[in-house]
Amino acid sequence: MPALRVCALYPDVMNIYADRGNLLVLERRCAWRGIGFELAGAGFGDRVDPDAHDLFYIGGGQDRDQELCAADLVATKRDALAAAADAGKVLLAVCGGYQLLGHAYALEDREIPGLGLVDLRTVRDPGPRLIGNVAIEVDLDADGSKRVLAGFENHAGRTALGPGAQPLGRVLHGHGNDGASGFEGVRRDNVIGTYLHGPLLPKNAWFADWLIATALGGIELQPLDDAFENAAHASARRAAGM
Ligand code: GLN
Repeated sequence: MPALRVCALYPDVMNIYADRGNLLVLERRCAWRGIGFELAGAGFGDRVDPDAHDLFYIGGGQDRDQELCAADLVATKRDALAAAADAGKVLLAVCGGYQLLGHAYALEDREIPGLGLVDLRTVRDPGPRLIGNVAIEVDLDADGSKRVLAGFENHAGRTALGPGAQPLGRVLHGHGNDGASGFEGVRRDNVIGTYLHGPLLPKNAWFADWLIATALGGIELQPLDDAFENAAHASARRAAGM
């Protein structure tokens, strides 16, 4: 049996809305299938080995938390994460982590540097925060099989995708990247950024499986009894007005 090797970036700092719960979902869904799960954490000053992990994860954070991590992220982990992305490793980034995938997150008087792994830029807007339940339509396998991700967003930053960036999905309900474009998140091969909290994976178990299968090279996963998880998904969709 394979093992899913996960590296969590700044797990103690980038964990707003219990985003670290996403890791528990990955662990449980692997364990229920007899798939091993190895979790490593990378904090301040730690280097990461792009070959030692199948999936890299960074959660959300307040502006202050992002600022604490950003310089270290760029200085000690950028090259490894860029290599991992180029090698097709899965990189999942939520909210504050998502913003750090791009070129920069601009505050009123300064810029928080980003990894520049995807072509996007975020600006903190002095206007109202974009808060509420959100649902987006995604076509992850690019075969027309559209599915819904449901979650909750709360961000001051407005993210603009550059011409070289593809969104993760189309907003069905909620604000998404900027409250205006109709786009949510970003997708570059297996690099995925999204504003969706929930945490994301407990509310969208099917997406957790997509990540596990993709990270393990596209393996077929044994189905699980997802009655409980599907009920959670339906409830999140109802909360998003669908
Ligand atoms: N601090 C960022 C913003 O407000 C991200 C917030 C978050 O991770 N929920 O835009």
